[in-house]
Amino acid sequence: MNMGGYLYYIARQSASFTVSFSLLLLLGSPLQAAEIRLPSLGGDSSASVMTPQQELLLGEAFMRSLRQQIEIIEQPEIQHYIETLGQQLVSQSDDPTAPFEFFVVRDDSINAFAGPAGKIGIHSGLIEKAESEGELAAVLAHEIAHVTQRHLMRALESRQNQSLQTAATVLATIIAASASPQAGEAMIATSAGLSLQQQINFTRSNEQEADRVGMQTLHNAEYAPKNMSAFFKRLQQASRHDGETVPEYLRTHPLSLSRIADAESRIGQYAPVSRRSDEEFQRIRTLLKIPQFTNPQSAVRHYQKALQQSSLEQQQILQFGLGIALQQAEAPKQALQQLLPLLEQQPEAPTLLIQIARSEAESGATQQALQRIREISRIYPTHRALAQFHAELLQQQRQFDPAIQRLQQTIADHPTHPALYQQLATLHTLANHPPESHLALAHYHFLRGETKVALQQLDYAERASKKTGTNFILFSSIDERRREYESKQALEKAEEKHG
Ligand SMILES: [Zn+2]
Repeated sequence: MNMGGYLYYIARQSASFTVSFSLLLLLGSPLQAAEIRLPSLGGDSSASVMTPQQELLLGEAFMRSLRQQIEIIEQPEIQHYIETLGQQLVSQSDDPTAPFEFFVVRDDSINAFAGPAGKIGIHSGLIEKAESEGELAAVLAHEIAHVTQRHLMRALESRQNQSLQTAATVLATIIAASASPQAGEAMIATSAGLSLQQQINFTRSNEQEADRVGMQTLHNAEYAPKNMSAFFKRLQQASRHDGETVPEYLRTHPLSLSRIADAESRIGQYAPVSRRSDEEFQRIRTLLKIPQFTNPQSAVRHYQKALQQSSLEQQQILQFGLGIALQQAEAPKQALQQLLPLLEQQPEAPTLLIQIARSEAESGATQQALQRIREISRIYPTHRALAQFHAELLQQQRQFDPAIQRLQQTIADHPTHPALYQQLATLHTLANHPPESHLALAHYHFLRGETKVALQQLDYAERASKKTGTNFILFSSIDERRREYESKQALEKAEEKHG
């Protein structure tokens, strides 16, 4: 099954609707319509505008159904990187306080998509294809613009004569139909084929708006606007080279010659920006690339050979790649021989330091690894990947309480990241704190939109806490969470009833 093609679905259902429905959807593994569980979007047909709350519920439903079909990369360094880059661009966009979530999907195809409530996914294949952070930022800025310009939401809301529940049902049907790409395409041909020309116009105007608004964001964030047209051209070349296989991104974001020309003509309007460093981007790209080799040994051979032929400019990043490959091949001492010299030029790069500390810990020098992570954490106190690795090292040393403290500090800075609560739950289990473990797990599920499971975990937490005696702080934490989850559940139920 071809995982991860995306379908940009634009249907003109009937003459009584304006061009009405564009969705970025997943073509993935077989999926039952019943599994989708989209919230209904308000039965009141006069309410054509979705409330922010409804949009968030739709966004959560979207993520739940996405997680069943694709692999979202959980490695903290990669997550931290894409979130930081994405949020930095959001802060320079025309809607800097809107909620967004950025994630990387493990998929070789070149694609990116914007779902409801600012859920933006980037395929690992696209990151590999981009040649600089600026090019990746250009794609992100374009997706952010699709969200801030409300392209998807406007399409949903424009179905005036129809309850949003019906729209949600159509969405579910499309997802179910897309279980097989052929079936999905056949369905588009029949229901959307009514107005091909208008489809194209609709798409083009959205794409051009996203390019224009995105380019402004890109420049505000001090990336050169030319990164946008440079990436378009790279895509065009890729589709020529690969013959018949058009990159998915071009199917979901149609690229016309006029789009490239427009982008190029706008570049001149912007003041020049100084070139940004690409080192962290290159490291992240390397971390994404290594698992693609058939085994660590072949990655080692690849980087050894590449280093022999490399230019001076490429040497550092290839050496980083060789270091990671050696680490994966369980040769941590050899990995350190490659990684440690890189500190000379990059003494404070968190991703590099995490890899070095990991190799040190694996070769038995855990104290040194801990020392290194403690020092760099002073410079980057809110770096999530650093904190998670620090807690992991402390856990290996069976220092559970300090590890818990370290994670709790980080949670104060990043209160909405499920992975942190998952790690916290594990630590509480190891430290033999069952109620706290269930409480952390409850919030992990809550943040993933699994409210029912979250409430169940709270019950377990309560039961466990009664066994361990009176702890008022714990009781009140459980109570507070319960009120929060129950009010969310009431909202979800109200939305379901509407439909
Ligand atoms: Zn687009």
